Amino acid sequence: MCTCLRLWNVLVPTSLYPWQDSLWQSLAGRSQQAHAYLLHGPAGSGKRALAEHFAQFLLCKAPVAQQPCHQCAACKLYAADTHPDLARLEPLEEGKGILIASVRELVAKILQTSQQGGRKVVIVEPAEAMTTGSANALLKSLEEPAGATVFLLISHQFSFLLPTIKSRCVLQVCPLPNAEQSVQWLQSQQPELSLEQCQTLLALAAGSPLKAQQLLGVDVLAMREQVVTGVKQLFKQQSSASDLAVAWAKMPQELLFDWFAQWAQLALRYKMTEDETQLGLADMAVVLQHVAPRVPLESLLATQDWILEHRQKVLRRVPLRADLLLEGLLLRWQALLPR
Ligand SMILES: [Zn+2]
Repeated sequence: MCTCLRLWNVLVPTSLYPWQDSLWQSLAGRSQQAHAYLLHGPAGSGKRALAEHFAQFLLCKAPVAQQPCHQCAACKLYAADTHPDLARLEPLEEGKGILIASVRELVAKILQTSQQGGRKVVIVEPAEAMTTGSANALLKSLEEPAGATVFLLISHQFSFLLPTIKSRCVLQVCPLPNAEQSVQWLQSQQPELSLEQCQTLLALAAGSPLKAQQLLGVDVLAMREQVVTGVKQLFKQQSSASDLAVAWAKMPQELLFDWFAQWAQLALRYKMTEDETQLGLADMAVVLQHVAPRVPLESLLATQDWILEHRQKVLRRVPLRADLLLEGLLLRWQALLPR
């Protein structure tokens, strides 16, 4: 049975995903648990579910076969989301930073004796949302946690973390499942989808089955069609960058930047290899095949750099005006093809 916790209106499953078995063995099977773990890897790999399951396991009074027992008082408190020795450190608002005041409050709390007489567990997500001040306020606790406290830090953007945070944690990478596992899982969750639809969704979700499932809820296929049509019109000068930017302003920027980053990568690969089987999804294959040979390599590389640099800004939630950012992207993209 999967129990779920509500977090910013997103349901977070607390059971493991099938692709996390060996990852789980390496965590639960340790002879001695560390003070701090940093679970990192691409978004949509199931890190939060892993951290929640790990937290329940660490708090459980009588684990069975390296799993929480689901029977003891600690497991029942966990299931009711009322375990007094479990804390979650998160931004107060999604997408904002973790405040130094929140860290201080947490540090004061973990200095108190554990209420259930066992471990205390702190989940920090996303760890990269800690400002330098917040991170510094947490450092001492990370290094010498009070009592039997275990920190579980979750990071979707490992490179954004301070080295002082990384060096105090056991690093555990959480990869995405392979293509076969992804399709299998997605089909088990959405049996109404055909194999081809599953593969398309996974390609649109950069290989993450969890993201693919979320994308179903935002009518991604219609959005993709609108974007691909727009790009074709842009190259034919039937639409302007500014009109498209306004029309796309409400679309998830992260997704748009993922797609353009992917197209730049595919165009580069085709330019180098001329391998027609490596052009990605069919909807843009012809466009990329047309563009790649006509663009100087330096222009393509410079555009790719620009996209990746601005994608980082989007991921860091640097406040930028959506329409101006998209217009910049589209002007760069349009300039690839000489008139
Ligand atoms: Zn238990």
